[in-house]
Amino acid sequence: MSLSLNLDTYIGKIPNFPKEGILFYDVTPMLQAPEALQFIVDQCLITYKNTPIDGIAALEARGFYFGTLIALAMNKPFFPIRKAGKLPGSTIQQSYDLEYGTATIEMQVTSNLQGKHLLIVDDLIATGGTLQAAAQLLEQQGAIVQHLFGIIGLSFLNYRKVLQQFTIQTLINYD
Ligand code: IMP
Repeated sequence: MSLSLNLDTYIGKIPNFPKEGILFYDVTPMLQAPEALQFIVDQCLITYKNTPIDGIAALEARGFYFGTLIALAMNKPFFPIRKAGKLPGSTIQQSYDLEYGTATIEMQVTSNLQGKHLLIVDDLIATGGTLQAAAQLLEQQGAIVQHLFGIIGLSFLNYRKVLQQFTIQTLINYD
């Protein structure tokens, strides 16, 4: 298990993306560094070692990079949450405000979530709106959501206030 790594060196900072005035934190370098991915998975395993987790949910698209790895490492099922219109079959939707506008996410209707403890994973937590909407989707399907895991947290956007009913773990924060 890797216990220490300077994650900041694996995060690109791209000014004015996706629009003027926004500093975009780019996780792509992590994907090309197995030691960074291993560190993230290991930290997740350590964090939830004594926590009942029955499954992992993650958000399209960058949350999938990490969510499936974590699900495999924990030997738990993975539940994708996607942008509206991408998933086949019966789905439920949730709309929400995000840092750069509004969005609608959806997931497939499943009976597998009833009474299950779900951990939600995403690459970055900014205002917290995306994770809040994701938790609502899971809860609508009977899941219990208490824990949220983000690689990066943008503390200055006050996500802890919006997500105050959850226990949040991030691996690196920017103020
Ligand atoms: P929130 O809903 O404001 O917390 O925004 C978080 C969502 O927006 C996550 O799904 C992120 O993938 C995405 N996001 C917002 N800002 C960034 C960024 O700087 N880098 C990568 N993803 C971002």
